[in-house]
Amino acid sequence: MAPLPITLDALRKTYGDYVALDDVSLAIRPGEFLTLLGPSGSGKTTLLMALAGFVRPEAGRILIGDRDVTRLAPNRRDIGIVFQNYALFPHMDVLANVEYPLRLRRVSRREARERAMSALERVKLGAFAGRDISQLSGGQRQRVALARAIVFEPRIMLMDEPLSALDKNLREHMQLEIRRLHDDLGITTIYVTHDQREALTMSDRIAVMKDGRIRQIDAPQDIYCRPGSGFVAEFMGEANILAGGDCRAADGGTLSSAATLMVRAENLHLDPADCGPDGIRLDGRLAGKAYRGENWLLQVELPSGRELMMSIPSARSEGCEELSPGDPVAAFAARRHAHPIPAPEPEAA
Ligand code: ADP
Ligand code: MG
Repeated sequence: MAPLPITLDALRKTYGDYVALDDVSLAIRPGEFLTLLGPSGSGKTTLLMALAGFVRPEAGRILIGDRDVTRLAPNRRDIGIVFQNYALFPHMDVLANVEYPLRLRRVSRREARERAMSALERVKLGAFAGRDISQLSGGQRQRVALARAIVFEPRIMLMDEPLSALDKNLREHMQLEIRRLHDDLGITTIYVTHDQREALTMSDRIAVMKDGRIRQIDAPQDIYCRPGSGFVAEFMGEANILAGGDCRAADGGTLSSAATLMVRAENLHLDPADCGPDGIRLDGRLAGKAYRGENWLLQVELPSGRELMMSIPSARSEGCEELSPGDPVAAFAARRHAHPIPAPEPEAA
C-alpha cells in the first residue's frame, strides 16, 4: 500500500489556561521521515498523541490522505506507535507481545504467529520469541516495541523518544536501524525527540517546536545552517549570535552589514587561510578552554562582552595547548558561514 500524505490543519489543544498546541498546521509528505524536535514541554507528545487519536484537539482537523480522521478511534487510524516507555506487556512473552495487535484485529492465530515471527526477524529478534520481557535488555525491549508497531503493516508510524532510555552507543546504532527500517518498509514516520543530533541524523525534515508552535520546518542541513531565528540557531547546536559591531572584514576593511549574524562554533578558525578571501574576523581574549578528544573548545570574550565559542578540531589545533586565559585570540570565519538572522526576540516575561 502506498503511503499517504497527512495534513494537520490549525490544531489547538489546551489544558485549562495552558495552550499545549497553538494552531499547528503541518503537511507531512507520503513516505517522509519527519521529526518533531523541541525542548521538554514544547508540545511534541501532545501533537503525536493527537495524530494517534489519544488526545482530542478542541479545534482543527487531521487528514490522512483525503480522509478526515479527527474523530476516529486510535485503533482505526492504521497507525503503529512506539511509546517512550515501550509499553510492553510484562506478563506476556516476546512473541505474544508482537502478536497482540494482530489478535486485536482478529487475525487468525496461525497467521498472527507467522507475521509476528517475520516482524521479529526484521528487528533481529527471531531467536528471542519465547523469552519473557523481563529477560531482555533495554535495547532488545525497544526492538520488541518496534516489531509490535510494524507487525500489522501500518501506513504510518509514530515514535515518541523511543531511544531515550538507551546508552549513547546503542542509541546511535538504533538511530540508523530505525531509519533503515523506515526506508525498507516505505511508511510515513513521525518521530519525536529533544536531541538535535538524533533529529539531524534520522530525518528528511525537522519541525522545530516551542511553546506549542512549530517555529521552523526544513531539511536537516537547512535547519542547521540557515536557522530562521536565534531560538532555532541555538537549539540546533553551538551557535554564536553576533552583532554587526563584533565583526570586521578579515582583510582589514570594514563590514557593510550591521545585521545580526549566526556563526557555528565549528566554523570559526584560528588560521585566516581557512576562511577564504572575503571572510570575517573577530578579536577577543581567551576566557577558557577545554579538550574534548575530537576537538578543543575555546571561549573567547569579545570587547562587547559577548562570548564566542570556538570548536577547533584536534587535528588542526596547533597552538591551542599553549593558549592561556587573557591571551589575545583572533577568530576567522568564511562569509558564507556567517548567516544573517532576525535580531533576537526579547524574552517573554
Ligand atoms: P513535550 O512532549 O514536548 O515534552 P508535551 O506535549 O508532553 O511536551 O507537553 C506540552 C505541555 O502540555 C507541557 O507543559 C505539559 O505540562 C502540558 N500537558 C501535557 N499533557 C497534559 C495533561 N494531560 N494535563 C495538563 N497538562 C498537560
Ligand atoms: Mg514528550
